[in-house]
Amino acid sequence: MLTTVELQPKSLADYAPIVGDEIVEQIRALAEPLKGARVVHINATAFGGGVAEILYTLVPLMRDVGLEAEWQVIEGRDEFFNVTKACHNGLQGMDIPFTDEMRNTWQRYNEMNAARFEGEYDFVIIHDPQPAGLLHYHGRAGGKHWVWRCHIDTSHPNPVYWDFFAPYISEYEAGIFTMEQYVGPGVNFKHLAIIAPTIDPLSPKNVPQTLEESRAIVRGYGIDLHRPLLTQVSRYDPWKDPLGVIDAYRLVKREMPVVQLALLGSMASDDPEGWTYYDRTVRHAGEDFDIYILHNFHGVGNREVNAFQNVSDVVIQKSTREGFGLVVTEALWKGKPVVGGNVGGIPLQVLDGETGFLVDSVEACAEKTLYLLQHPDEAERMGARGREHVRQNFLSTRHLRDYLRLFASLS
Ligand code: UDP
Repeated sequence: MLTTVELQPKSLADYAPIVGDEIVEQIRALAEPLKGARVVHINATAFGGGVAEILYTLVPLMRDVGLEAEWQVIEGRDEFFNVTKACHNGLQGMDIPFTDEMRNTWQRYNEMNAARFEGEYDFVIIHDPQPAGLLHYHGRAGGKHWVWRCHIDTSHPNPVYWDFFAPYISEYEAGIFTMEQYVGPGVNFKHLAIIAPTIDPLSPKNVPQTLEESRAIVRGYGIDLHRPLLTQVSRYDPWKDPLGVIDAYRLVKREMPVVQLALLGSMASDDPEGWTYYDRTVRHAGEDFDIYILHNFHGVGNREVNAFQNVSDVVIQKSTREGFGLVVTEALWKGKPVVGGNVGGIPLQVLDGETGFLVDSVEACAEKTLYLLQHPDEAERMGARGREHVRQNFLSTRHLRDYLRLFASLS
């Protein structure tokens, strides 16, 4: 058996006051013919990163509208996750080697996990490259429809990785990508769905927090709330460019010496590289006591992320590659303007000059951040627009609706 993730129930009705009755009714109507459908989502980890974040809400909501949905995670040790991290990077285009030993490790773990897959499902949704070989090694028995949900950008993959993965991926009946241009070269799914990720407005990370509560939490980390605060929340990962954020902050600090920077990053269990990059980030920050580098071992959980996003003056997401960037959605939902890298799914969310600014360099990041710090009224207007943009496009209810539509088109 693969490991089943325990989930708390959620009720679609609770979302009506936020998204409106019409959307909720639309979802119920779409779910009606799918009642009783057996759905399993399978991914690599129940902790850390955007996929886990999404499944904690999506699966309970699928249950609430009548589907028999569950979530399972594959087994893996560091030797596997080191390889899958390289695969993640290689598939996004990084120029790194892919040795026979790495291929064997990936295949071995996929074969082993495929042997653990049990049960009968109408829809099997495999998330990301880590378990992408499950269908190949298990065979179609046990699942009527096999779907591969890709959360990363495979538009310009390193061919060494792509040539290896493409045959596994091509076996799936349907592919789900965040953006159309993310579909890698030469793979033609019978069904292709474009579904952008979403956040749960009722999760502890996004539920409204009073300013008082948020301030108390952030103050607890030693931050001076009488001074401006910049925050980036993300894994310690080269694509998220925490070193670039520190450089941009330093440029801002030249003009505005009181500014502070918080970097928050969780250590995902499928990301052993995280510690190495965390060390690099700490070294880069050096002796600057206005830079706060925190992670989940400092007690940074959902409430804390919520609090930092809520009290920051500007939220930065200076990624140089990004699947979607849920942290951007989360910050916009809290009414904060975001200065974000002009990559991946960030431009879907940061409408340049409207809900924040898109930037391509350290200098631009610093310039736009400083601008927002110096124009708080405009920052507030942009934040309000960002929140509305998220309400319309990036809340869990929309995600649920898109999945139901896909299931209906496959049945
Ligand atoms: N996250 C968190 N604590 C941290 C850092 C990140 O809870 O210290 C969460 C973050 O709030 C977001 C998710 O991890 O919900 C990251 O998703 P995103 O799409 O931004 O990036 P990914 O890690 O999937 O590349």
